[in-house]
Amino acid sequence: MSDDCVFCSIVAGDIPARTVHETDDVIAFLDANPLAPGHTLVIPKSHAPRVGDLEADLASAVFETVTTLTPRVQDAVDADAANVGLNDGEAAGQEVPHVHAHVIPRFAGDGGAPIHAVAGERPDLSDDELDEIAAAIAP
Ligand code: AMP
Ligand code: ZN
Repeated sequence: MSDDCVFCSIVAGDIPARTVHETDDVIAFLDANPLAPGHTLVIPKSHAPRVGDLEADLASAVFETVTTLTPRVQDAVDADAANVGLNDGEAAGQEVPHVHAHVIPRFAGDGGAPIHAVAGERPDLSDDELDEIAAAIAP
């Protein structure tokens, strides 16, 4: 638990939330400023700022909840689809430094965009550069 973390306060029951799913390790609740009806956040109950900080078991538990909850969220609001994503770090738009997956219902013709729209200008990378990047990521 982090004292000044809004999501830890929700887990502790100090701040109200519209909880839609809860296990020993994970809780999901409606986003207070929804981008669409049904916009839901899935978080680990223990405080972890970034995805890389999550233990493997907890990461699995979060993703398992995301996969079971996403169709339920869509059904609840009669959505056609959903975007699922995480802002990992401030430069990526993360405002609450406690890992959370967004489940954002989407509706045909809603005027939104795919997840490809989140980045800036697309880089023009050579094959060598792509090889270098792949090698740097691979163990
Ligand atoms: P992010 O930019 O990925 O850190 O998203 C943080 C999200 O948390 C935003 O969509 C906010 O609307 C949402 N949020 C912030 N405070 C609360 C709260 N008390 N209850 C529910 N959602 C919240
Ligand atoms: Zn927290």
